[in-house]
Amino acid sequence: MATTKYIFVTGGVTSSLGKGIIASSLAKLLQARGYKVTIQKLDPYINVDPGTLNPYEHGECYVTEDGAETDLDLGHYERFLNSPTTQANNVTTGRIYQSVINKERHGDYLGKTVQIIPHITDEIKRYVKYLGSKKKFDIVISEIGGTVGDIESLPYIEAVRQLKWEMGTDALFIHLTLVPYLSSTGELKTKPTQHSVKALLENGVQPDVLVLRTEHPLSPGLKEKVALFCNVSKEAVIESIDVSTIYEVPIRMRNEKLDEIVLKKLGLPVGDPPELKDWNDFLYRFTNPQKEVKIALIGKYVELHDAYKSISEALIHSGAANDCRVKIEWIHSERITEENIERKVKGCSGMIIAPGFGYRGTEGKIVAARYARINKMPFFGICLGMQIAVIEFARNILDLEGADSTEMNPETPFPVIDLMEEQKEITDKGGTMRLGSYDCHLKKDSKSFAAYGKSKVSERHRHRYEFNNAFLEKFENRGMKAVGINPDTNLVEVVEIPDHPWFIGVQFHPEYSSTVLQPHPLFVAFIKAVLENSK
Ligand code: GLN
Repeated sequence: MATTKYIFVTGGVTSSLGKGIIASSLAKLLQARGYKVTIQKLDPYINVDPGTLNPYEHGECYVTEDGAETDLDLGHYERFLNSPTTQANNVTTGRIYQSVINKERHGDYLGKTVQIIPHITDEIKRYVKYLGSKKKFDIVISEIGGTVGDIESLPYIEAVRQLKWEMGTDALFIHLTLVPYLSSTGELKTKPTQHSVKALLENGVQPDVLVLRTEHPLSPGLKEKVALFCNVSKEAVIESIDVSTIYEVPIRMRNEKLDEIVLKKLGLPVGDPPELKDWNDFLYRFTNPQKEVKIALIGKYVELHDAYKSISEALIHSGAANDCRVKIEWIHSERITEENIERKVKGCSGMIIAPGFGYRGTEGKIVAARYARINKMPFFGICLGMQIAVIEFARNILDLEGADSTEMNPETPFPVIDLMEEQKEITDKGGTMRLGSYDCHLKKDSKSFAAYGKSKVSERHRHRYEFNNAFLEKFENRGMKAVGINPDTNLVEVVEIPDHPWFIGVQFHPEYSSTVLQPHPLFVAFIKAVLENSK
């Protein structure tokens, strides 16, 4: 295609309306019509990336193959599109300012006063156009974080206003708002949408398409009213009604013709209806499960489910692959004791110990891992979850009293999990972990090999600490095997207990690469084992 087209998605009225899901759903439909699409998130905060943010602040930190620590919306983009994103798909105000300030120090603006307009806005424009310049995509969708009217998002709105002015019909604006329902009068109200569009207009942006989040169907009259007040054509007022699963949104958007309207407005051929058979098959299996299982998800941020977004989504994908609904029992690791663990995991047929950082909650996780090991409950330890399984095994089977990770106890006599040599000199916290994809070789007689069906795999990492190979022989002699090894560094990436129905710990994050159309093989195998155990 000659020129790349750009779609900017803004949000109004409240946050959390699901811009990421709307952007992903539209991208899915365009992809299903044969277009090459990518999605970018522009985040208005000053952190360079979300890697240093507490999950309570921002939910999960998602990691791309190229090792970028990013917003969790990128996880949705990948799960919907089944194609990888990169560092360029997530830009923050911090990153924009960092590169402008670096250029200023370098002398690139010599003689000039460096200002928000044009220097910051130019930098934003450069990051937006960068993805298009790769010639890999027909359409780039940029989602602007925050809500119109926020001081923080102003430079982004200004930058995309300028882009629209430069690009004309090659650019398009979609604005997502809320139509609240007043139960006392039984009415849907359009005023907040009108105000939100006014706020956009004040900044020089006229939306081309309005997507209205609503709890109840919107009447043609209401859509007409919104169209009239907001200078938008009637068919470009799209209803986005609440649905029980985010994976139904592409189908709803398809029914509302969002993709067709967007393509027409961009002057692109609409072509044949989108091919969504596999997607619909998944939806059918997900919404018509034959069985149900419950798994215990043990973590220290369980109050905020978004902290484990990719894990819970991977359980949806792998559940559907097994024709089964997976219910999650969220268990707070800080509240687990020897006395209550049995009660806490009652009714669960499998256990996941989640990733995490720092000492808080780790002793409870160790108690849980021991329970799963002894009671032959399918166990899946992810990153810190694997390290916990190793510590538990060291303490209770190898009799290494006080065995620990040096992250939790730097003075431990048995550092079974320890800092990598190249990490020891690092003091900066941002972007300095082992990040992104690394190769791993699986041993042929392992359950992991059976799950993947191959020995050479590549998985994403986000951690500083590693299995300490000085103890490897002891572990293997007593029944915990290192079955996945990094071929370049010899680091242990997967451990298993062969003498257990399904006990696997992985140093990487399989959840990041599970998608609707390609559920992660380890999650699929785990759910299969959980189903077995539930019989
Ligand atoms: N805190 C551990 C480490 O840094 C595990 C990290 C994680 O679970 N992502 O190695």
